[in-house]
Amino acid sequence: MGLLTETAEAAREALDVAQIDVVADRGYFKIEDIDACETAGIVPYVPKPQRGSAVAKGFFPKDQFRYDAEADIYTCPGSAALSRVRSRPVRGKIRVFDYANAAACKSCAIKTRCTAAAYRKIARYENEAVLDRMAKRLAARPGVLDERRESVEHPFGSVKQWMGQGAFLMRRLENVRAEFSLTAIAYNLRRAISLVGIPALIAAVRP
Ligand code: SF4
Repeated sequence: MGLLTETAEAAREALDVAQIDVVADRGYFKIEDIDACETAGIVPYVPKPQRGSAVAKGFFPKDQFRYDAEADIYTCPGSAALSRVRSRPVRGKIRVFDYANAAACKSCAIKTRCTAAAYRKIARYENEAVLDRMAKRLAARPGVLDERRESVEHPFGSVKQWMGQGAFLMRRLENVRAEFSLTAIAYNLRRAISLVGIPALIAAVRP
């Protein structure tokens, strides 16, 4: 967490492009980072992790509450409208708003699947529209997360399984960097040999 923009900026510089899409696993999901990416002209694709106390207790996750930006309400799985009931500051300057409909919860037939409290509250960050935009992008490109997993996890899986590098032998960042650079060179050479073969590699570097 907290490294998405920094990592994506380094990739953009390395590729020497103005615009870049960044696809990351759910460990990178953090609203501040998603927001910072958009501000920097980086287009993020990060799946939302299912976490929070409601999910842990087996209640309806927040995804099942639909937000209507124009009306500024959530529609819950019981079809009730949850409106903004209070705001509070969190994480520095970012505010969070609570949405609820206590009267609807009181007579709700599916309340036991939703909350153990008197009524269900849904929290929304004031800049949560960035997450809504990202969810739309992900829905429009359903294969993009699989593409990332298949292309990015493969080298690490090979390095761990085939090269047996489960834990670093070196200590201290600089030394570990050197160790991993050697691992990466070995992996890249083997991959290049598999993909194009030794004669083609020799021909490519021959003056
Ligand atoms: S308990 Fe409240 S928020 Fe949950 S489904 Fe019922 S009415 Fe909607």
